[in-house]
Amino acid sequence: MDRITLVVATHNRGKSREISDFLADFPVELRDLNDFGSIPEPVEDGKTFEENAYKKSSFTAKVLGLPVLADDSGLEVEALGGEPGVYSARYAGPKASDEENNAKLLGHLAGIGERKARFCCVLSLAVPSGAALTYEAFCEGVILDSPRGANGFGYDPLFLYTPENKTFAEMTLEEKSRVSHRGKALAELKNEFAKILKWLQLRLQEEKALRGETNMCVGDK
Ligand code: IMP
Repeated sequence: MDRITLVVATHNRGKSREISDFLADFPVELRDLNDFGSIPEPVEDGKTFEENAYKKSSFTAKVLGLPVLADDSGLEVEALGGEPGVYSARYAGPKASDEENNAKLLGHLAGIGERKARFCCVLSLAVPSGAALTYEAFCEGVILDSPRGANGFGYDPLFLYTPENKTFAEMTLEEKSRVSHRGKALAELKNEFAKILKWLQLRLQEEKALRGETNMCVGDK
C-alpha cells in the first residue's frame, strides 16, 4: 500500500509526536502544521466538540489539499449543565490561564455537592472534499474542592479519576493515557486504522478522478 500523507491539525509537536508514535506501524507519513508555514485558521465557533473538530479538520484539509486529523476536547460538569464544555480553554476569558479557568470552575461549584464531570475528546479525520470520519471518547470523574498533583495541564489537578483515587495531575502521562478521553479516542483510531487507510485511499482516488487526474470511471473502485 502506498504511504498516505496525513496532517495533524496542531502546532503542538508533543501532540503530533504522540499520534505519530501511536500510528508507527502503519504506512502513513505524519505531518503537523509546523511543516506548512502560515495558513488560515478556522473559526472554532461550534456548539459541540464534534462541530469544532470537524471545522478544524475539513477547513485545514481544504486549504492544504491533504487529509487532516483534528481533535477537540474539554470538560463537562454535570451540575453546571455541561459547562465549561467547548469553552474549556477560554472559560475565564479569551487568554485565561489554567489557574484562572480552575478558579472560575471552583467558584461556580462552591457549595454544590454534586461534582460529577467528564472529559470528552473528539477526533475528526477529513479529506479535502469534506468527507470525514469521527471518533469520540469520554472519561468520567468528579471535581475536587482544591487542586491535587503537579503533572498534566488544564483541569487535570481538579479532576479526580475515582477508580484510582488519583487526579489526572497525580498520574504519569502513560497512566493518564490508559484511561483518559484522549487516550481512548486515539486507541479507537489505532484499532480502526487499517480500515481508515482503505477509506482514505478510496476518497483520495475519487477526488483525483473528479479533478480529471486519473481515468477512473463511476463505480470503478
Ligand atoms: P484542546 O481541544 O486539546 O485544545 O483542549 C481544550 C481545553 O480543554 C484545554 O485547554 C483544557 O482546558 C481542557 N482539556 C482538554 N483535555 C484536557 C485534559 O486532558 N486535561 C485537562 N484539561 C483538558
